[in-house]
Formats: sequence, structure tokens, C-alpha cells
Amino acid sequence: MNFRDLKKQYEALKPEIDLAINNALSSARFISGPQVKELEEKLAEYIGVKHCITCANGTDAITLALMAWEIGEGDAVFVPDFTFFSSGECPAIVGATPIFVDVDSRTYNIDPIKLEEAIETVLFEGKLVPKVVVAVDLFGLPADYNRIKHICEKYNLLLLEDGAQGFGGSVNGKKACSFGDISTTSFFPAKPLGCYGDGGAIFTDNDEWAAILRSLTVHGKSGNDKYNNIRIGMNSRLDTIQAAILLPKLKAFEEYELDKVNEVAGLYNEKLSASKLILPYVPQGYVSSWAQYTVQLPDGTDREQLITKLKEKNIPAMVYYIKPMHSQGAFDNTRSAVADCPVTEQLCKTVLSLPMHPYLEGEDIYYVCKQILEFLNE
Ligand SMILES: *Cc1c(COP(=O)(O)O)cnc(C)c1O
Repeated sequence: MNFRDLKKQYEALKPEIDLAINNALSSARFISGPQVKELEEKLAEYIGVKHCITCANGTDAITLALMAWEIGEGDAVFVPDFTFFSSGECPAIVGATPIFVDVDSRTYNIDPIKLEEAIETVLFEGKLVPKVVVAVDLFGLPADYNRIKHICEKYNLLLLEDGAQGFGGSVNGKKACSFGDISTTSFFPAKPLGCYGDGGAIFTDNDEWAAILRSLTVHGKSGNDKYNNIRIGMNSRLDTIQAAILLPKLKAFEEYELDKVNEVAGLYNEKLSASKLILPYVPQGYVSSWAQYTVQLPDGTDREQLITKLKEKNIPAMVYYIKPMHSQGAFDNTRSAVADCPVTEQLCKTVLSLPMHPYLEGEDIYYVCKQILEFLNE
């Protein structure tokens, strides 16, 4: 069994994807070919925002957004303590200080009450200027944007939605990657919408920021002139081949993959409901894109032993994430204050992510659940 079955997906979409790749090869427009523009238009339409700017990966997408806002030294950027490294790495790349905030124990997303406390603490200390909130849609579930937006308005902060795992999710019909002043996503192969290498995208309704972002992705070019450079940028583009691959994949994602992962999650919920596991929580009105199906093991469970047992039964299970951001050694010198994040600490000890993808069969799901239930009852 595969954790995320990219082979099965390729087999299902092989004719379209092979054709798309071959067309990209024959046209030989490997950088900024017409497929890139077509994909950007389709993505903007799908998300419901004015501008989509593709780039090289989800990490660059976050960095570019912070660069467009001229975030840097002396600025505080609030980031959930429980997330993938990039969410905090990018603020540090631009010279700002990431301030790690604990998460909600049910949604695993940034806790709005803790966020406000962290902002107040930074203001009180007076060393850094609060500038940006990076809200992550962890495991596919959009963050609590109603409350986060309210806090951003109250303290005059910019909102960056890190939708690397959130693509496809929604809140009352409004799509993930549309909630931030700027939102970003990743097309890393294992993400909800993945390409066959690295890729990313940035979304915004703001014309001025969109123009700056376009410039930043191509060495700070002026307008369309890449040899007239008016700001320090990056070389961060989505390859034509990757855009070509993403076009049929986006179609499949819209047509059935997103529904399928929600069915898979429903089956897991049903089969595991009577166990002592804490199952993923999706608040009313929210839709998850199920980047991960992550459970919390009951206190005292030997997680390593369970993972070993599952592996023996050919079931891959992963720990996302084993370490709070605030204890990553890379932040030893950039952190302003040691975060107090008990929920994250607890989650890092108890979470386990199970195989999750749109091509997972009912019998596989039952098999996974059976092995877990047996282990817990032993
Ligand atoms: C994967 C991921 C990123 C980074 O995306 P890449 O394309 O791998 O650079 C950023 N944030 C989160 C939450 C992610 O899961």
C-alpha cells in the first residue's frame, strides 16, 4: 500500500498527461510557455481570485509574498508552531523574526486566542513590529479565517494564507487560497494538487502586489523586460512541462479527486469512530482537501510500535510533525522569545497520519482500520 499513490493517479490520467508532456516537448517552449498562462487563468478562476502567479515551489511562494510586502529585519511574523518548516523558514529568510503560536487541539490550526496574546506580547516588549500573520491550512483544513481576519484588522497586520496543504478546501463555499491578502500553495507531488517535480503558486486580488510578484519571480524585471531590473528578485518560475501536467490534473481534481478523498476520510471516520483515537475534526461549513488524514493516539500508546506493526502489514504511516517549530535548531538565533505551546508539544507526541489519496480502495481503508483497532485493543 502507498501513503499517497502517485503511480495509480498517473495510470488513471496517463493518456492526458503523456499528451500534455509531449506537446510541451515538441513546442520546446520550456520556460513560460502558453500552458503556464492557461494554468494561471484556470487556477485563479477555480480559487475565485483576480491574480494567480505561478512560481518554482511553495517555499518560494511564501518568500515572494513577504518580499512583495517588504517584510524584513525588525518585523514580527506570527506562524503556527505546528506546521511544515517552510511556514517559519520564509519569514527568517527575509530577515524577519518568526513568532511561533500554539494551535487549536481540534483543528490543529493556529489558535486565534493565542495569536492575539502573542501579538500583545510583542507589542508590550517593543522590540519588533508586528507585521504579518501566516495562517496555515494544516492537513487540508482551512484555518479559522473569520477570527484571524478580525485580529489582523484590529492590529493592522497583513494576512498570508499558507495553503500548501489547503488547496481544494473551503469555508462556506469560499475556497482555500482566497483568504489571505496574499495566499500561496505548493504543487509538490504529494500535496492535494501536485505536479511531477516542484511547483507553487501565489494568489491575490491586489493588482499592485500582483505586478510586484510577477516582477520578483523574474529577477525583479520591469514590466516585461527581464534585462531592466528594478528590484532584487528571484528566479522562481513554474516550468512549462509542470504547468502542462497540472492542467489535466486540475481537471481530475475538480471532477472527482476532491470528492474521493472526502469519501475516504468518511470511511476512516466511520470505521474508527468507536476507537479511543481522536479523529480529525472538520467544523461546520468547512471542507478539507485531506492533504493528510491525521489521528491522535490515546495517551500511553507506543506510537513507534504501532508504526512498526503497520509497516509489517505493508501499511505506511507517518508522523507529521514530530518536532514543534519552536524547537527546531535553525531558529535558535532568530527566535525572540521561547514559545509556550503545550498543544503543539502534545500533538507532536501523539499524531499519526494514515494513507490518504483519491485512489485508496474501501478494502484498503478497512484493512488499515482493522490493524489499528487490533493494536489498540491488545
Ligand atoms: C509543503 C509545504 C510548504 C512548502 O512547499 P514546497 O513546494 O515543498 O516548497 C509550505 N508550507 C506547508 C504547510 C507545506 O506543507
